[in-house]
Amino acid sequence: MLDYAAAMTGQPAGAALLDDLRAALPDMRLLVEPADTEAYRFDETEYMRPGRPLAVCFPRATAEVVEIVRLCSRHGVPIVPRGAGTGLSGGAVAIDGALTVAFGQLNRILEIDPANLTATVQPGVINAELGRAVAEHGLFYAPDPASFEMCTIGGNLAENSGGLRCVKYGVTRDFVLGLEVVLADGEVIRTGGKNVKDVAGYDLTGLFVGSEGTLGLITEATLRLLPLPPPKLTMIAFFPSVPAAGDAVARITAAGVVPVTLELMDAFTIAAVDEMHQLGLDRTAAALLMVESDAGGAAAEAELSAAEAACAAAGATSIVRAANAQEADWLRQARRAAHPALERAGVARMDDVGVPRGRIPEMLAEIERVSAELALPIGVFGHAGDGNLHPTYIVSRGDEEAERLIDTARDRIYRAALGLGGTVTGEHGTGIAKRPWLEAQRGPRAVAAMRAIKDALDPAGLLNPGKVI
Ligand SMILES: Cc1cc2nc3c(=O)[nH]c(=O)nc-3n(C[C@H](O)[C@H](O)[C@H](O)COP(=O)(O)OP(=O)(O)OC[C@H]3O[C@@H](n4cnc5c(N)ncnc54)[C@H](O)[C@@H]3O)c2cc1C
Repeated sequence: MLDYAAAMTGQPAGAALLDDLRAALPDMRLLVEPADTEAYRFDETEYMRPGRPLAVCFPRATAEVVEIVRLCSRHGVPIVPRGAGTGLSGGAVAIDGALTVAFGQLNRILEIDPANLTATVQPGVINAELGRAVAEHGLFYAPDPASFEMCTIGGNLAENSGGLRCVKYGVTRDFVLGLEVVLADGEVIRTGGKNVKDVAGYDLTGLFVGSEGTLGLITEATLRLLPLPPPKLTMIAFFPSVPAAGDAVARITAAGVVPVTLELMDAFTIAAVDEMHQLGLDRTAAALLMVESDAGGAAAEAELSAAEAACAAAGATSIVRAANAQEADWLRQARRAAHPALERAGVARMDDVGVPRGRIPEMLAEIERVSAELALPIGVFGHAGDGNLHPTYIVSRGDEEAERLIDTARDRIYRAALGLGGTVTGEHGTGIAKRPWLEAQRGPRAVAAMRAIKDALDPAGLLNPGKVI
C-alpha cells in the first residue's frame, strides 16, 4: 500500500505534523497508537483493504478543522474525512500515512428554524437524531438511509445518500440549501443559506454534495425541512417470482402512484429477515414489496388501493395491510435490517446499482440469470421505487473461488445496468469500490472534467486521495 505522505514529501512528514497538531490544538482528541486507530481503518465495505492511518483526530469546531487542514497542507499529509464509517464504497477507509478526521464530535444541531423550515447542523449529527429533534417542532427531515440510526449528516451529504423515502421526497441533495466547507488550503466558504431560491453563480452546494470528501470538508449544513406528514399506512404484497414484483413496481409507477416507500426483498432476503425477526412472512414467496403511503386519510387509502390493484395485476399471491402502527414499524425495521440479516448467512457483500424504474423487471431478471449461471447466491433487496437495487453476494468467509465469482458477477451486473440506461451506483457512491467503472458510465471527457475540478480545488491531491477519481 502506498504511503502517500512519504511519497509526496520524500520524508516522514507524519511525526512533524503530529507535533504541530499537539502544539496548535492541545485539547483535541488525537489517537496515534495502532490499537486505538484500528477501529477507524474500516468502513462497512468490509472487503476493502484499509491502510494504516498516521492518526485519527476529532475536531469540535470549524476553527479546529481549519487548523488541521492548514497543517496537513503544510506537511503534505493527506486527509481522510470520516463520519460514522457506515459507508459502502470505501470512502472513509483509511489511507497509509494519512490523517483521518473523524467528525463525530462536531455534532450539534445549531438551529431549528420553523419560520424558514430549515435546520442548521454540524456534520457529526446522526440522521435519526435530527429526525427526532425536528419532529418535536412538527417538522420532518426526509432523507433516511436504512442506516439512519448510525450514519451522520456529513456522511449523507458527502455520499448524497438515498433512503426509504426517496421515491416520494428525493435524495439528500434535494434537502440541502447551503454548506460551510473548509477547502484544501484551509479557507472557509459558504455555498448558500436559508434562501429557497438562490441561483447566484455556479451551484457549489450541488458540487460538494456527493463529492465523497475529495473536494472539501463539510463543517456545517443548512437543510430543508417539511411539515411532519401524517402517520403511514403500510402494506406488503408477496409474488411468485422476482420479475413479477418488478412488474408490479413498473405498474405502480405507470399508474402515477407515488408512495413514500416502495421496497423490494427477494426470497433469500425474506428468509434471512424472517429468521432474524420472526415476523411470520411468507417464506414460500419469491419476492415481496413493501408499500407505504403518508398521504393521510382517504388519500392514503386511495394510494394503497391503487398499489394493491397494480400488485394484483402483476400476479401477487397475497396482499396484506399492517394491522396497526406497531406492526408497520416491525416491517420497516425488518427491511432496514436486511443487510445485517443476510450477514448471518455468510459474508454478505452489498452492492448497489440503479436503472430507470421501467427497466426494473429486466434488471432483476439479469441478476437472477447471473446468480444461476455462476451458482453464486445473490440476495436482492432495495429501493425498487427508485429503480435502486442492492444485489448482495453471499459467500463463505475465506472462499477465494467465490471471491473471484463475485468479481465476474459484479462486472456482468454493472454492464447490464449500464446497458439498461442505469448507473453503477444509485446511492452508495463511487469511493474505491466503483472507481474502475466510473469512466465506463460517464465517459472519458466527463471524468476529465471531474479531474479538472478536483485539481482546481485540491491541487496537491490531499483530500481523500484515490477515492472517486
Ligand atoms: C446497514 C446499512 C444500510 C445502509 N442503507 C443505506 C441507504 O438506505 N441509503 C444510502 O444511501 N446509504 C445507505 N448505507 C450506506 C451509508 O450508511 C451511507 O453512505 C451514509 O451516508 C454514510 O454515512 P457515515 O456517517 O457513516 O459516513 P462515512 O462512511 O464515515 O463516510 C462516507 C463518505 O463521506 C465522507 N465524509 C464524511 N464526513 C464528511 C465531512 N464532514 N466532510 C466531507 N466528507 C465527509 C467520507 O470521507 C466518505 O467518503 C447503508 C449502510 C449500511 C451499513
